[in-house]
Formats: sequence, C-alpha cells, structure tokens
Amino acid sequence: MKPSNAILLAIALVAIFVGLIFLPVRAWFAYFETYVRSLGAIGPLVVVLVYMLCTVLFVPGSAITIGAGTLFGLTTGFIVVVLGANLGALCSFLLARGFLREKVAGWAAVNPKFRSLDQAIGKHGFKMVLLTRLSPVFPFVLLNYLLGLTAVRTPAYVLANLLGMLPATFLFVYIGAAARQALAGPLDGATDFYQQLVKYLGLLATVAVVVMVTRIARRALREAEQQHDGAVAAGMPLLNADHQPVSYDDITLAGDEYDKQLIENCHPPRWSNPLPAGKYNMVVIGGGTAGLVSAAGAAGLGAKVALIERNLLGGDCLNVGCVPSKSVIRSARAVHDARSGGEFGVHLPADPQIDFAAAMERMRRLRAQISEHDSAQRFRKLGVDVFIGTGRFVDPKTIEVDGKRLRFDRAVIATGARAAEPPISGLADTGYYTNETIFSLTELPRRLAVIGAGPIGCELAQSFQRFGSHVTLLTDGAEILPREDRDAAAVVRRQIEKDGVTILTGVKIQSASWRDGTKSLWLIVGDRPLELSCDAILVAVGRTPNLEGLGLDAALVRYTSRGVEVDARMRTSNPKVYAAGDVCSRFQFTHAADAMARFVIANALFFARRKASDLVMPWCTYTDPELAHVGYTENDARTAGFDVATLTQSFSDVDRALLDGEAEGFARVHYDKKSARVLGGTIVARHAGEMLGELTLAITARQTMKVLSSTIHTYPTQAEALRKIGDAYMRTKLTPAVQKVFAKWLEWRR
Ligand SMILES: Cc1cc2nc3c(=O)[nH]c(=O)nc-3n(C[C@H](O)[C@H](O)[C@H](O)COP(=O)(O)OP(=O)(O)OC[C@H]3O[C@@H](n4cnc5c(N)ncnc54)[C@H](O)[C@@H]3O)c2cc1C
Repeated sequence: MKPSNAILLAIALVAIFVGLIFLPVRAWFAYFETYVRSLGAIGPLVVVLVYMLCTVLFVPGSAITIGAGTLFGLTTGFIVVVLGANLGALCSFLLARGFLREKVAGWAAVNPKFRSLDQAIGKHGFKMVLLTRLSPVFPFVLLNYLLGLTAVRTPAYVLANLLGMLPATFLFVYIGAAARQALAGPLDGATDFYQQLVKYLGLLATVAVVVMVTRIARRALREAEQQHDGAVAAGMPLLNADHQPVSYDDITLAGDEYDKQLIENCHPPRWSNPLPAGKYNMVVIGGGTAGLVSAAGAAGLGAKVALIERNLLGGDCLNVGCVPSKSVIRSARAVHDARSGGEFGVHLPADPQIDFAAAMERMRRLRAQISEHDSAQRFRKLGVDVFIGTGRFVDPKTIEVDGKRLRFDRAVIATGARAAEPPISGLADTGYYTNETIFSLTELPRRLAVIGAGPIGCELAQSFQRFGSHVTLLTDGAEILPREDRDAAAVVRRQIEKDGVTILTGVKIQSASWRDGTKSLWLIVGDRPLELSCDAILVAVGRTPNLEGLGLDAALVRYTSRGVEVDARMRTSNPKVYAAGDVCSRFQFTHAADAMARFVIANALFFARRKASDLVMPWCTYTDPELAHVGYTENDARTAGFDVATLTQSFSDVDRALLDGEAEGFARVHYDKKSARVLGGTIVARHAGEMLGELTLAITARQTMKVLSSTIHTYPTQAEALRKIGDAYMRTKLTPAVQKVFAKWLEWRR
C-alpha cells in the first residue's frame, strides 16, 4: 500500500471512531428499530445486511445484537446475529487479506520474529481465532481485519469464528429478548447466570490465548534458528568471505559477490522453511524451470502450493545451463567478430586481447541479475510455500522435506537431470568438468578435450576454442550433432573446424590417466591408438534423470533408467502424481519444461486433458551458426504417413545474409504434398533460433506453404529465406498445364 493510501485509511478510521463518540448514534439506533419493525418479514434480512455493513465499517455490533433480541426474540434474533456477525467478519477478513496480506507477508519474510509469529498463527489458526473470539479483550471489529493480515487459513477462521462467537452472541441476544419480556413482567435470574458464565469463559480464554501465542511463537523461532544452525553444520555453503569456490551438491560456483547474490536469491542461507499448511493442492519437488512454472502457475490460480528445492532454485537452466552457456557463447562470438573484422574493413592494430576471467565475471553478473526471477523471496510473495531441502515421497499422498510432512492432493516431480558419467576407466581419478563445474572457471585451460558432440559439447567446444584454448572434440558417433539434419550439422562442423577445433569421430576412449603432470586420454580412432594430452576434460555425453532418493517406490510411481514414466497427459502410474521437464521427457529444453508444466497445472488441477504429444517442439543449438529445428524431420514425416516434399533455400541467395557476411547455411522446410501443410523445418544460420519462430507458428497454426509466400517480410532480412521457400512452393503449383492456361488468358486480354 502506498503511504498516501495508508494515511487516508488512518484518517477514515479515526473519523469513524470520533463519529461513534460524538454523533447521536443511540438515537439513530432507536429510529432504525422503529423502521425494522415496520418492515415485517424482511426485517431480519435487513438487520443481517446492516450488521455486516457495521462490522466492515468498525461499528461495534453489541447494540445491534441486543436490539436483534429485543426485536425478534431469542431464536430469530440469535440466527440473525450469527449470520450478520459472521458474514461481516468474513468480509473484513477477506478485505484485509486481499489488499494487505501480501505486504505483511513480505515484512514477515525479512523479520524472523514476526515470521515465526505469523507461521505460528498460520499453523494453529483455528485455536488462535477461537480463543481470541472467546476473550473480551480483543475487539471484534478490529480483530477481523487483523486476522486477515496473518497466515491463518480461511476455513479455520470461518469455523473458529462461528464457534467462538456463539456464547457472547447468545448472551447479548438473550439480554435483548429478556428485555422484551420484561416489558410484560420482571427479568429472571438466568440473565445474570449467563452474564457470569460468559465473563469467566472470556477471562480464561484471554489467559489461554496470551500463553499460547507466546509459547508457540517462541517455539517456532527456536526451530527457525536451529534450522539455520543445522544448515551451517551440515556444510550447506554460506558464502565464504575470501571468495573461494563453493559447491552445492555437484554444482560449483566461483564464490564472488555475484555468486553471493545468486545464492541469496536461490538458496538463501538464512531461509527458514515454513510450517506445512494442512493439505496442499500441489506439492512440487524440484525448483528448476518445470517446478517453478508449475508452482507459480498453480499459486496464481489460487492453489495452495509447496515448492521443494534441495540445491539452487532456477535449476540447471539458470545456474549451470542455458544462462551461463549463452553468456559464454556471446563473449566468444565477440572474440570471433573482433578477429574477423578485417573482412568488414576493420583492422585492429594488434590481435584482440582476450580476458577470459572478465568474460566469466560478466556471465556471473548477468546470471545473478537474472536469478531475481527465480528467487525464493519472489516465490514466497507469489504465495508459494518454498522449502529448501531434499524432497522424498513417504507414501502415495505425502512428501517429506526437512523432517516435515507435506500432504498433497496432487504432486509434481520436476527433479530434472544431471550430466551423465561415461564409463571410462580412470576418468574420475584424472578429474573432469561437467556443465555443473565448468562455469566456475576463471582461468582458460590451454588444451581442452570435450567428450561428446551433442549441443552442449559443440557449443562449449567452439566457445573455448574462440577464447584461445586448443580444443579437441571427441565423439563415438559418425558425426557431430547426431539428432540433426545431416546437411545442417555439416555446416556447423565446417565452421567449428574453421575456428580451429579438432573433431575426432568414431572414437573409443579406452582410459584416462595422469602423465607427466598433464591429463591423458587413451583413444582408438578408427583402428589407430592415440594418446590425447590435455589440461582439462569436459564431459558432455548426455543427461541422467534425477531419481535417486525420491521414494518413487513408496509413491507407487513407475520409472526406468530413462526417467519417470508418464502418459500423454504427464500423469505417472500414481494418478495423483505428475511429472514435467527433463526427468520425464526426451525434449530436454527449458521451453519444453515450461510448456509441460503448463499442461500439468491444467491437467492436475482442472480436469483438462492436454497432451504433451500435441506440443510442437522447436529447439536450437547455439553454435555459430546456430542450428534450429521444429516439427517433423523428413524421415519422421514419411514414417507418420505424409507424402513429404522438401524445399531448401541457401543463405547465399539472401541479400541480407550476403551483406552480413553470413551466407553459409540454409533454411529447409518439409511439407505435405497433398494438403501443403508445413510439417517441419531446419534453419542453419547465425540467428536461426530467432527465425525459427515463424515456422513454429506456421506448424502450430496448421498453416500451409502458401502462408510463407504471402507473409510480407521486411527487406533486407535473413528471414526472407522463408518467404523465398514459400515462393518456390508457389512455383511448383505453376505446372505446364497451368502455365498454358495463363498464357491463353493473357493472350486473349491483349
Ligand atoms: C550446459 C547446458 C546448456 C543448456 N542450454 C539450453 C538452452 O540454451 N536452451 C534450452 O531450452 N535448454 C537448455 N538446456 C537444458 C535446460 O537447462 C533443461 O532442459 C532445463 O533446465 C530442464 O528443467 P527442469 O525443471 O526439468 O530440470 P532442472 O533445471 O534440472 O531442475 C531440477 C531441479 O530439481 C532439484 N532436485 C532434484 N532432486 C530433488 C529432490 N529430491 N528434492 C528437491 N529438489 C530436487 C535440482 O536441484 C534442480 O534444481 C541446457 C542444459 C545444459 C546442461
């Protein structure tokens, strides 16, 4: 709330209180009483509405309560007051919750004492509300708003309100009803009895609530402190003062001020996990893309959500995947552009000086900046209960984290994958990097061997070579990027080799060892044995799903070594448990994890029937040039029964690509000859990933090749390659017969 709004609110409250003291409120009540009597049968309804309004506007309701007894007698008066008071209290509670709760939760988050109290009220909400309602010390109209600001759950509040207000309501209505009778005869002694009863009950409740709040809050605070101390004792890295590398599981960080910021956001050292709130609509294990999107989306729709992350929120993509790798790639491209300036008439006085440490620091700075989006605080503000710890199923409906049990209606496994370890003898002892450790480097290795020529291997091999390492890229396959269009992969290979990377295909790695102070890989290439000496080894041979220790058997969730088994709707063998992201998919991309998570929210919480198999999945390898693909490959389309035709446009015929000096590469589109529907495509170009969106849209919207031709593209752009493919398709429609008809028509018109 803005300060100006807070001042206005305070003025309004003071005005109401002053008004109550100085205005002729009693006379108004008398007038109102006469009016209600005149209404007959709808009188009680009007009193309910007025009671609600008074409650919301801070007008104490005791006078109306007694008045209701006088007007309607004990039974009707009692019902009228219970309805009016409870509905009014609920309105005030929801108003406070809707407008101010988020702000209060934000304050609570940064103040351990306040947070403990808030959590305690959340956990023991029913008891707290009941006792405060019984106690006469806490004013009814104010308390409704105050409770709305705490973590107490709405159903607990409603029930405790109803029960807690019954004695006092009964007493006051009884007094009113007795007064009505007194007009006919003297008051009986019961009034006095009930008055005494409510007084002593209220006194007891006051003592109980004070003792209870103090004890619970103290206990919660102690628990929070123990958790923090426990984390330190268990070696969870709180950043060290001298900026040494720090590790989270397998992830290594360089440990400078930017990494400190990353850790503050994604694994806050002083984080205290919330107290579990009853049953959750959704509990998510894993705080990578799939987990974050599931949790934020579900919470945004009003679900009670818990998110569990053992390591760094943001998962692979933020910490050791897309984000750092793309920053490194960008710096390496700057090096390449500086070196190839001569082609554009830019001559540097000397070779560009490459500051690898500065490039890595830039990466850490940007990663820390981006990490705000995935931060624990942000997710707490979104309404998600964030638990830092390892999640594990204990039965099909319960997950344990940090010694706490979270019951769920639906759960999502989003535990991702990690770098697979190749079974090479001696490799572990020789030492090697994976994506989890390579980004902590601050010194460039002179000679780098990269094992694995998939997207990660190729992207990093090219980048490190451009920085100045001598890189050898090894694969046991016949080619690099084996999942891609062969011609496109060949274009990428040509450029990587031009950059200076040595690519060895069909390699068997026999063993690894130390020799003369350097690392050696013992290879068989073809039939030839070869020793490859290097200073560092990067392993990028695929991904292994994170399944260990998850308690999947206890959850009755089936899995294989390839990951959690899911049906087309992302549901596991336990119908209450879903999975999303790398842990269950062959599409191991951030955007795939994101898309799957959105389907999971709809399917798990709202009976939707969205199928992952319906997703049109694009992907891109960010080498230079980039290699991007979407939809069917030619072979897959044929297997699926399409009569496939393919059109290819080289960038050497695209003006902008020539001007940019980026004429290597092509765009290729597959379509169905019968319907002309676009089925799939590959682009290999410097900005292929950016251009691919147009093809993805065409396939998702089930468009035909005509649309590529009729869409106007700005000139000169490289995306014109797709328009040219559309034009080429239109020319195929110009058969000799059609050409003849056109010629006749034009001749006739002359
Ligand atoms: C070097 C590299 C570059 C990449 N580049 C790209 C790219 O450019 N574009 C792209 O689309 N994709 C890229 N990817 C892939 C992308 O990072 C992944 O597809 C994406 O991160 C998958 O998200 P996820 O949520 O499924 O899993 P993850 O991001 O792996 O998150 C899973 C999380 O679960 C946590 N976890 C595991 N077990 C437990 C447990 N028991 N309790 C609590 N928490 C647990 C882990 O700590 C982790 O944080 C790249 C990957 C790598 C390695």
